[in-house]
Amino acid sequence: MGKAGYGGQGVIPLNLILLGPPGAGKGTQAERLREDFAIPHISTGDILRAQVADGSDLGGKAKRFMDAGELVPDEVIIGMITVRIGEGDARDGFLLDGFPRNEQQAEALNEALSGLDRRLTAVLLIEVPDEEVVRRLAGRRVCVKNPSHIYHVDFDPPKHEGVCDQDGARLVQRDDDREETIRRRLEIYHAQTEPLIGHYDHAGLLRRFDGRRSPDEVHAHIRATVATLRLEEEL
Ligand SMILES: [Zn+2]
Repeated sequence: MGKAGYGGQGVIPLNLILLGPPGAGKGTQAERLREDFAIPHISTGDILRAQVADGSDLGGKAKRFMDAGELVPDEVIIGMITVRIGEGDARDGFLLDGFPRNEQQAEALNEALSGLDRRLTAVLLIEVPDEEVVRRLAGRRVCVKNPSHIYHVDFDPPKHEGVCDQDGARLVQRDDDREETIRRRLEIYHAQTEPLIGHYDHAGLLRRFDGRRSPDEVHAHIRATVATLRLEEEL
């Protein structure tokens, strides 16, 4: 793998964005793509935590907003992402997850990439209807004793309703998984992301995947699409 240079013979970079509603399985797919194509999975949350822990300038700025209970502004986030994309392991590409969330962030990302003499390869959208998202998330039940004991009322029910198979503790629904909460998150998702989807569709970058299928099927479909994209980039 050659160093990034002017038209070097390195691997064709895959600069990807992953979009989809909560409950679409983005995390699972991102991990698999990371393994398939050896590109880092860059999530906004992870970057924030890492930069704050490092005590970098941007991390310090972000921390002041977080400590004040405020949202970290776009320019701080985009600064962190620009730094992260410039690191060695992202030379052959990256998979952004959780960013951009709206059109302004998309514009900022575009500028940052141009500044690095790079551009997006594709935007991968995992589509799941709202009712399916609600069914997936609202059906989750968590053990009060050990939150890693997770069940689902339809897909993975415990032997006895409301009771953990492993330790007999009570199973509860987390506040985040309540239907009202999920519907609110979906509203925000649609309001912010639909213009973004239109934006990338218009730019010819959008690829849609049917998130109602099994994680294995979704993965096979995405992997085939991304492999084809890389071939097309080589031509
Ligand atoms: Zn348990």
